[in-house]
Amino acid sequence: MSKYIFVCGGVISGVGKGTATASMALLLKARGFRVTAVKIDQYLNVDAGTIRPTEHGEVFVTDDGMETDQDLGNYERFLDQDILSINYMTTGSIYLTVIQKERNFEYDGEDVEVIPHIPEEIVRRIKRAAHQTKSDFVFIEIGGTVGEYQNLVFLEAARMMHFEAPQDVLFTLVSYLPVPAMIGEMKTKPTQQAARFLFEAGIQPDIILARSEGPIDEKRREKISLFCNVPKKHVISAPDVKSIYEIPLNFEKEGLAEVILNTFHVKARRKNLNQWTAFVHTTKSVTRPVKIAIVGKYFQTGDFILSDSYISVIEAVKHAAWHFKRKPEISWLGSEIYEKDPRRIRELKKYDGIIVPGGFGSRGVEGKIKAIEFCRKQKIPFLGLCYGLQLAVVEFARNVCKMPGAHTTEVNPKTKYPVIHTLPEQLANIREKRIGGSMRLGAYMCDVKPGTAAFKAYGTKLITERHRHRYEVNNDYREALEMGGIVFSGINSERNLIEIGELKDHPFFVGTQFHPEFKSRPLHPHPLYREFLKAAISHHS
Ligand code: GLN
Repeated sequence: MSKYIFVCGGVISGVGKGTATASMALLLKARGFRVTAVKIDQYLNVDAGTIRPTEHGEVFVTDDGMETDQDLGNYERFLDQDILSINYMTTGSIYLTVIQKERNFEYDGEDVEVIPHIPEEIVRRIKRAAHQTKSDFVFIEIGGTVGEYQNLVFLEAARMMHFEAPQDVLFTLVSYLPVPAMIGEMKTKPTQQAARFLFEAGIQPDIILARSEGPIDEKRREKISLFCNVPKKHVISAPDVKSIYEIPLNFEKEGLAEVILNTFHVKARRKNLNQWTAFVHTTKSVTRPVKIAIVGKYFQTGDFILSDSYISVIEAVKHAAWHFKRKPEISWLGSEIYEKDPRRIRELKKYDGIIVPGGFGSRGVEGKIKAIEFCRKQKIPFLGLCYGLQLAVVEFARNVCKMPGAHTTEVNPKTKYPVIHTLPEQLANIREKRIGGSMRLGAYMCDVKPGTAAFKAYGTKLITERHRHRYEVNNDYREALEMGGIVFSGINSERNLIEIGELKDHPFFVGTQFHPEFKSRPLHPHPLYREFLKAAISHHS
């Protein structure tokens, strides 16, 4: 029988519910339990694939090809295990199932209603995830904050599960305690109100994670305990941290794993957090920097810079840098400036390595191509991810293979040299506007050619990596590009698709059609990122 831990947010969003969920799960995993984490999003979008990254952050892709919220990436990174599509749902996906069932007469003439049919479908999915992953503990993170209208059906589902089996379900409220500048004192009232929202939904929180700038003091702990109706030991201090990877260790100090196990009357087990502790120690003690720039476009949202758009790329760089005991210094460079002011490109010299990440559409593309050209010529270590590979091929075709105006048909459908073109099965999708969930998604096999940089990284001839694209390198130009000097070191043999391209006579110049960052883990940096960072570290030394 699985135990279920719901994680809801109070007061404001963005205080780290996802990392809190992943951290709690990690503590139980470190005690030998089987754990998993489910993410619920409130959007009507059926998956995250159709949401702009500047709106909602990176779209994470699972092995089985679902486009999900970035929190699934956090779960995978913290738990060092693959999480599949069954662990992700949105309001839209739930309504879609219920309405399809209704159309198929599966409700047998019943009057189909939001309550109870929507929560029932939510419960069914949570239990299916528990069953399929055979987990002892299932964490379920409910997106947004309590009190939002959109949250209600999910809280209702949680309440129903608790009503059915109170001994198997507990509730965690991740709240926020502001310290308003003009008062200079940590305020608990918003947390009390958040708890009240849960009471209204028929839910008593069992644990309160008190997020704040600093640790909470005894007085606040007592107040929250008394007014929110939870034992004092169940109020967990969760101050801001420099690195998210410290969070599990902070929770451990607060005795959070024991609180969960005791509440469920599950016997405590010995823990093993040695590797994680050593890893966190490294992240805090490294001092020698390695400077990596990401040349992309999804940074700006209003007056703010949003690094969330490339969160997996950033984490993958960090994992690899820490592996070499270096301090990762990551800069975000908007590629459009190189179109407006081409001389600015020389600033790339300052960096030890350049990444051109995934992307869509035409904005900023010429700037990225200029950056790639600069890395090729100046021998700056370069890693191209998906669009990054495609644009590296475009640059090479134009400037080395003498194909002026070569392009991807995504940007210029009429180019004389369509070196990147639409995957055949995608033509109809684009024409008929079947956009959602229709890209080439998820894990596919790739043969790696011995004697190449890719092979040196992976050390094996067969790999699987995760994809998210509609375009590919056009095989009609393969020979010409190879003649020019590109080495296609990774091929999907099932369909003869090019998956990796690289250059010889360069310290490191590799582009991948897939997204290796989705598989990088703190304790197991991704081999390509590792080799890229290795080259970056030697670049200026
Ligand atoms: N826009 C490109 C494609 O669809 C690249 C996608 C990506 O970078 N993920 O093929």
